[in-house]
Amino acid sequence: MNMIRLDNIEKTYGKTRALDKLCLEVEEGELFAFLGPNGAGKTTTIRILNGLSFLDSGEAFINGVNILKEPLKAKRLCGMVAQHTNLDGELTVWENLDIHGRLFGLSKKEREKSSREFLDYVEMTDRIDSFAKTLSGGLKRRLMIARALIHRPKLLFLDEPTVGLDAAIRRRIWSLIKKINRTGVTIFLTTHYIEEAEFLADRVAFIHEGKLRETGTPAAIMAKLGSWAVDTYGNGDMKTDFFGDRESAGSFIQSANGSGTLRRVNLEDAFLNLTGKRVA
Ligand code: ATP
Repeated sequence: MNMIRLDNIEKTYGKTRALDKLCLEVEEGELFAFLGPNGAGKTTTIRILNGLSFLDSGEAFINGVNILKEPLKAKRLCGMVAQHTNLDGELTVWENLDIHGRLFGLSKKEREKSSREFLDYVEMTDRIDSFAKTLSGGLKRRLMIARALIHRPKLLFLDEPTVGLDAAIRRRIWSLIKKINRTGVTIFLTTHYIEEAEFLADRVAFIHEGKLRETGTPAAIMAKLGSWAVDTYGNGDMKTDFFGDRESAGSFIQSANGSGTLRRVNLEDAFLNLTGKRVA
């Protein structure tokens, strides 16, 4: 069974069509990255799946549960780490976790067990009594992840989980995301850092103007462009050409009098092509 299934989802805000007959399937256990430019419809999709916004038409299922017909059952299956920090700064680390457990109806014993387990998991046991407002950006993010896991969801949404974090802390969060996924939790990730998706995801989807443009493994999507890329700069613009083999790319550079930078194709190339932000 799919962990997520979207059938022809539509959502309109006034005259803006945020989602346009969006169809998508995410398998149980996948680490899935949902990519798209600003305004593509990523957050709208996550909000709908988490019961924070209603769809206009179409159907959405989480682990086979129709989110409109059984919203509470669907919500219990999901953990959500929002894009912006939404901890209660005036409460301690422990209290932030405890309140979340109460919202999901966990008993005191369950809350204590889960809070200890997930604080240990995100390596924050030593900060149990710290006020959330005193934590660094990286620790706040880790606490939000622990909090999202308290009720043991099968599916975890991470909306831009590393935005604003430095490179070292970002890598630590990546390890944590992989670790969570290895326990069997399906992960649905949005990110503007394409290399994050390339490194983490089993499969990615590109959304643009509310429509699904492409889905597949990062390797398969990149292979459609070729293996090698040559960046050239001329007439005030960057241009990239793609090649199946290194020799062809080398010949291209020679024919351009040696100007051009040779590199491997990356997922960002595919993203920019699909969303029309770069002419190849
Ligand atoms: P970003 O990467 O910038 O966060 P996104 O892919 O998450 O973008 P959405 O936030 O889902 O995109 O927005 C999709 C479209 O819907 C955009 O055109 C946006 O302006 C519009 N939109 C989203 N929420 C609302 C709202 N509450 N009222 C009006 N328009 C909205």
